[in-house]
Amino acid sequence: MIGIRPVLPWETETVPTLEIANVSVVYDVDDGPALTAVDDVSITVDTDQFITVIGPSGCGKSTLLHCMGGLFRPTAGEIRIDGKVMSGPDPTKAAFVFQEYSLLPWKTVLDNAAIGLQFAHVSRSERTARADEALSRVGLSDFMNSYPYQLSGGMQQRVAVARALTMDPEILLMDEPFGALDEQTRRALGFEMTAALTESRKTVIMVTHSLDEAIFWGDRVIVMSGRPGHILQEFQIKTPRPRSVDFLATDEFVELRSKLLALLAPTPSAEPESAPDSTIQVR
Ligand code: ADP
Ligand code: MG
Repeated sequence: MIGIRPVLPWETETVPTLEIANVSVVYDVDDGPALTAVDDVSITVDTDQFITVIGPSGCGKSTLLHCMGGLFRPTAGEIRIDGKVMSGPDPTKAAFVFQEYSLLPWKTVLDNAAIGLQFAHVSRSERTARADEALSRVGLSDFMNSYPYQLSGGMQQRVAVARALTMDPEILLMDEPFGALDEQTRRALGFEMTAALTESRKTVIMVTHSLDEAIFWGDRVIVMSGRPGHILQEFQIKTPRPRSVDFLATDEFVELRSKLLALLAPTPSAEPESAPDSTIQVR
């Protein structure tokens, strides 16, 4: 007789989607002392969470994100996705959206959105279907056959988000994705994208230098110190996503914003490189 073995409690426990465990990054510098960019950072992220990371320029945010995407191996500690150590880039696990427009000018919007799938040797019909769906999610169905030069900056960044979504990654890594856009476009895009990404149920880590964006988009805001970057404090945001413009006037938003402002204010004793730079937008 075959008995049915009971499921033991630890077998049902879910593994966090992303674990950053005691990560430090030290860069070798040719003619000077080694530079510690990231200092013992640990973050555990569950599925579907939207994490925003904010901190002074040069505090190691991009370095940390590159480690999460397997583009760079930490000097100490490790990054685990679904419990497995990240040993190199894998866009089906973690896909990037960078700040610079990174579209190929000679390819249509559809082909740009599908490029990752093309590199992965996915058939033309499947890549078209997946790119089509991702472009619809970001509101670009009517521009599939356009070329990048025919799109505004905001639309180009939406294509970059769609390109990452076509890979159906578990985690989306966004490094100041809307940093090159003007404030108004950025806000409008923020409202649209936060809805699209919430619907897509992706785990997202987004670096931003805008306090408003950090609060508006995030379930958790992680504040990093000046270099060497470590976690100063973390805040949870209770209002569920996607949020509407009304959220900007709530006590939760206003109070958190003033706490972040105080935390990120330059201190007279800080080294020049570790002071927040003027790109931290105070609006
Ligand atoms: P952030 O994204 O927060 O502005 P970065 O991660 O880009 O910060 O950089 C953190 C620190 O590491 C900075 O002082 C930067 O000059 C330094 N750095 C970044 N990349 C390298 C590299 N490849 N070699 C040496 N130093 C680097
Ligand atoms: Mg950076």
